Amino acid sequence: MKLDETKFTMDFINEVKATYAIDVKDSSPLEQLMALGNLIKRYDSSNWKNTSKNYRQKDAKQVYYFSIEFLPGRLMKSNLLNLGILDTVRDGLDKLGLDFEKICSSEPDPGLGNGGLGRLAACYMDSMASLGMAGNGNGIRYRYGLFKQVFMNGYQVELPDDWLRNGNVWEIRRENRACLVRFGGHVWLQKQADGHLRPVYDHTDDVLPVPYDVGIVGYHNDVTNTMRLWSAELPPSADQTFYNQAQRDRIDQITEVLYPDDSNAAGRSLRLRQEYFFSSAGVQSIVRHYFLDHLSVNEFARKVAIHINDTHPTLVIPELMRILLDEYDCPWDKAWQLTVATMSYTNHTIMQEALETWPIDMFKGMLPRIYEIVEEIDRRYREEKTPIFGENTVDKTAPLGNGQVRMAYLAVIGSHSVNGVAPLHTELLKKDVLQDLYRIYPERFNNKTNGIASRRWLQLANEPLSNLIDSKIGETWRYNPKQIQTLSAFKDDDDFLNKLEAVKIENKKQLAKYVDEELGIKIRTDAIYDVQIKRLHAYKRQLLHALEIIREYLDIKDHPKKDVIPRVHFFGAKAAPSYHYAKSVIKMINALAELVNNDKAVEDKLKVVFVPNYGVSLGELIIPAADISEQISTASKEASGTSNMKLMTNGALSLATMDGANIDIVQAAGKENEYTFGLTADDVYGYYHRGDYHAAQFYDSNPELQRILETFVDGTIPGISTEGREIYDSLLRYNDEYFVLADYAEYVQKQKQISQDFTDKKVWEQKSLANIAASGTFSADYAVARYGEDIWQVPYDRVLK
Ligand SMILES: *Cc1c(COP(=O)(O)O)cnc(C)c1O
Repeated sequence: MKLDETKFTMDFINEVKATYAIDVKDSSPLEQLMALGNLIKRYDSSNWKNTSKNYRQKDAKQVYYFSIEFLPGRLMKSNLLNLGILDTVRDGLDKLGLDFEKICSSEPDPGLGNGGLGRLAACYMDSMASLGMAGNGNGIRYRYGLFKQVFMNGYQVELPDDWLRNGNVWEIRRENRACLVRFGGHVWLQKQADGHLRPVYDHTDDVLPVPYDVGIVGYHNDVTNTMRLWSAELPPSADQTFYNQAQRDRIDQITEVLYPDDSNAAGRSLRLRQEYFFSSAGVQSIVRHYFLDHLSVNEFARKVAIHINDTHPTLVIPELMRILLDEYDCPWDKAWQLTVATMSYTNHTIMQEALETWPIDMFKGMLPRIYEIVEEIDRRYREEKTPIFGENTVDKTAPLGNGQVRMAYLAVIGSHSVNGVAPLHTELLKKDVLQDLYRIYPERFNNKTNGIASRRWLQLANEPLSNLIDSKIGETWRYNPKQIQTLSAFKDDDDFLNKLEAVKIENKKQLAKYVDEELGIKIRTDAIYDVQIKRLHAYKRQLLHALEIIREYLDIKDHPKKDVIPRVHFFGAKAAPSYHYAKSVIKMINALAELVNNDKAVEDKLKVVFVPNYGVSLGELIIPAADISEQISTASKEASGTSNMKLMTNGALSLATMDGANIDIVQAAGKENEYTFGLTADDVYGYYHRGDYHAAQFYDSNPELQRILETFVDGTIPGISTEGREIYDSLLRYNDEYFVLADYAEYVQKQKQISQDFTDKKVWEQKSLANIAASGTFSADYAVARYGEDIWQVPYDRVLK
């Protein structure tokens, strides 16, 4: 949009006055933020209105991306960038003597997700809007986001994240669009006068889902899509009775809080309520919207694509069936054909403990009509497939089995497309967790490698680098991220490589300032910034990284005179509150940091910074300053990873196992520009099949490793007698489930290589450049374009090069 600076400052002054009845000079940053947000929302309102109007006029096919998590990050700068008014607004506020950065950082960072899954959903929303694709988000407006993490005596403590305390300036409550979601009670089918069977419900618990819409602004294209988040409220009481406290609580609970567990299925009834709640509300609203412009169900799958992001929204399948059968008198076969043609599913994991199943008794009691439909899906599946594939295979893959509703199987059976999120992951789905279903529906399986929104992770998070790129190759890469590739022409341009280094140091200064002011740790800006930021999970192996830190520490202590290349090791990671082992690792790393950072003999050669409360905003600060991207999961466990892509595009070199999208990153940037090590997925599966992994062998043959592991239990790292023992035992007594000891030696070797290579500035910057230049293909724009072409059959405007 076009915006004149003078007009903007006038509008802003008036907005502050109108909203708070004060002058700008008397307003707080939070008030400035709210006023600015209101103003920007108003500027964008025509685009938002016209976007939905255009889609309707064109009768465009719509995608609905269902995700139980969205992790969008702060929206102010992103909206300004995409509207093309970032500089105007920044300059205008600057002239008013206001601190733009401070205003932006008073925006709460909505923590409506745990990690990669929710962040992916947010990146895809950004890309759909930027491609001009008719894409909608559908999720839950949690009253409290993911907990706020603080450390007390090195232990993680969880505080509530009251992100809505001052309201959310970006949302619009649309109470008139509310519908009704039913839980529990009894249901039976009654024959109507016209001969159709209709369900009759009795004694149900009804909940009113109220939508809150957030505009998702596309990049320089006047498109604003909608992300719809549902909040559970009390329905208007039919018989004029008031709800009692227990009823109120039961309803409030549904959207009260996000489950803080990552990579583990919750298995709790409230979680199932959340899942049906937003699936049902979303599908009802889609069907209602569809019938505004269509007379029959016949065209439904040609006008609507529903995407199931991981299994949590799988109940959209029986819910759409319910509506078609019960409300539109569709015959089963036709309803099923439409449903399968509408639905598509992304799988995000191959780890057993993350696959959702629900006890049939719980499911049936909470969702009686939906259960009947799942039973019928199961019966027909068995009837159709048993003659072809045999009872054994069909038993293993049916939606109902072992007293459970198996969500992943239901999702595959009820969708026309099933995708993994990196080539290795998709292959493992076919070979391992979903192998039988792959035999039955081979044509449904496909790969869509994850991607990231390069607008947020490069253009916004790293303005100095973006400007440097512009100065060399112009701005077309901002529309077509793959064009960053042309930057590799400057790989021998010393001046450019020096500037690349200067940008990195500039970003390190920003981060160092934060670390000093907020955590009281002084760090050098000429050190290697070695970064591991992701959820704390045993399979991600923060422990392996910690072993290297202990090694470096002992080495400095043993050889005080030796020249070392200074390092700062960064961690950012929340542990699920119920994940005992992960919390022990946090305590251990904090204790190690305490030891290292306060040891006079270490000076500033080595520092360990565990940044509390890692989230999108901290990612935006840390990633541009990183030299090394730690992507060290046990091969086969990380489906894709996306922090690997964010770090790559900001010029960090990957220190990586051949897992998830690391493989594709290494291939894109060239093996010589990354540090790869460790067991491959085949090696890991080989150990599983033979059952011959013996952690002790690696321990027995490596005296250095023995000494390092001793520090967990001999008091060297103070204050961790329980946690240290627990970690020690996990490796030696319980045989190291994630192959940390097997990968240790090679990992250390690569770390030593890194220290050596870092001293040759030119070569280092060339490697960094190779990563930046190759990172464009990991832009979510391309990933979403592939979803649109191959899965959703939804067109988009932007011509992507
Ligand atoms: C990108 C991102 C993640 C995912 O990181 P992985 O290393 O891929 O697990 C998690 N949390 C936040 C806040 C992110 O931005």
